[in-house]
Amino acid sequence: MSTDPTESPEKAPDAIRDALHRPLHDLRISVLDQCNFRCPYCMPEDEFHANYEFLKRSQRLTYDEILRVARVAARLGVSKMRLTGGEPLLDKNIPQLIEGLAVIPGVDDIALTTNGMLLAPKADQLAAAGLHRVTISLDSLDKDVFRRMSGDRGDLYSVLEGIAAATAAGLTPVKINVVVQRGVNDHTVLDLLEHFRGSGHIVRLIEFMDVGNQNGWRLDQVVPSRQLLEGVQARWPLRRLDQNYPGEVARRYEYLDGEGEIGFISSVTEPFCGDCSRARLSADGVLYTCLFANQGTDLRESLRVAADDEELTDVLSQIWLQRGDRYSELRRPEVAEAHVLRKVEMYRIGG
Ligand code: SAM
Ligand code: SF4
Ligand code: SF4
Repeated sequence: MSTDPTESPEKAPDAIRDALHRPLHDLRISVLDQCNFRCPYCMPEDEFHANYEFLKRSQRLTYDEILRVARVAARLGVSKMRLTGGEPLLDKNIPQLIEGLAVIPGVDDIALTTNGMLLAPKADQLAAAGLHRVTISLDSLDKDVFRRMSGDRGDLYSVLEGIAAATAAGLTPVKINVVVQRGVNDHTVLDLLEHFRGSGHIVRLIEFMDVGNQNGWRLDQVVPSRQLLEGVQARWPLRRLDQNYPGEVARRYEYLDGEGEIGFISSVTEPFCGDCSRARLSADGVLYTCLFANQGTDLRESLRVAADDEELTDVLSQIWLQRGDRYSELRRPEVAEAHVLRKVEMYRIGG
């Protein structure tokens, strides 16, 4: 949780710093808010029903607008871009957007987070467009548990095909995100780890987070990473690894028997705000500086009226310079107010 400037990666001297001296390095771009799943922890079906009004195409940023924000963000220090959603692969033209991101000076890492259902037929095209890596969300290898956690929409076989296709296309290392919920899928975690041990894929076990307002979050459904770690260690001894870079979300471990790496994302029990270098752009052009923000800055107006990139750069720098977010550190499970604040929904800004 250090904010020591000497720990910054290569681009840090150029990167703008917020009020807590954190550089801006990552931009997460939500390309659309719709999804083909209804994971209860993210978009519960009773809220996101057939009549739910998602953004219309005309309300979403165009690719040109997204690329403009991305270019300006890169000038301020962003080197990592992640496409997310909703489900980003519902947008059929996404390779075009990736091509646009790939030529932005300073951008050296383009990743995509997906539920994997639509990935297999597109993996080659995505790689050819310039995508470097994918993160695939897969909560269980138990067919029934998986099905339930996708809101009765997911097909496990298709997701596994997606993982195989991404690997063959070189979108590696493939990361597999597992949201662990007590009493829902925690009993299937070791089986999932066993399956992916030795595959080169990096499984990341994520604490169920209190994002948004509609997922019925309860502290007693969070399995603390520490507890998961003990369970994994008891079966396969692990060794802690150094961070790849300051601000990395996952705590990294490797199996002592050489069968690969796993990660723990402990936003609830061991917050990591001190190094947080991420900004998030929603599909309708609102820039958020925290996953748990209750408000962001609408950039659409600036995109339309700002005469040139210089003015847009000023707008973005002001937002980042004033940033002081550290929700997870301030969170007190015993303080109810933290959870009744209206927060942005995860499907709008993509995690
Ligand atoms: N639809 C894509 C997917 O599922 O990978 C991208 C968007 S999804 C919002 C991004 C990530 O957020 C997924 O890995 C998902 O598991 C995670 N996520 C959503 N709701 C969460 C919650 N309440 N707690 C922890 N992680 C969550
Ligand atoms: Fe869709 Fe991803 Fe949210 Fe699941 S986690 S509902 S796949 S956006
Ligand atoms: Fe970053 Fe906000 Fe999460 Fe803290 S709570 S790590 S500031 S996104």
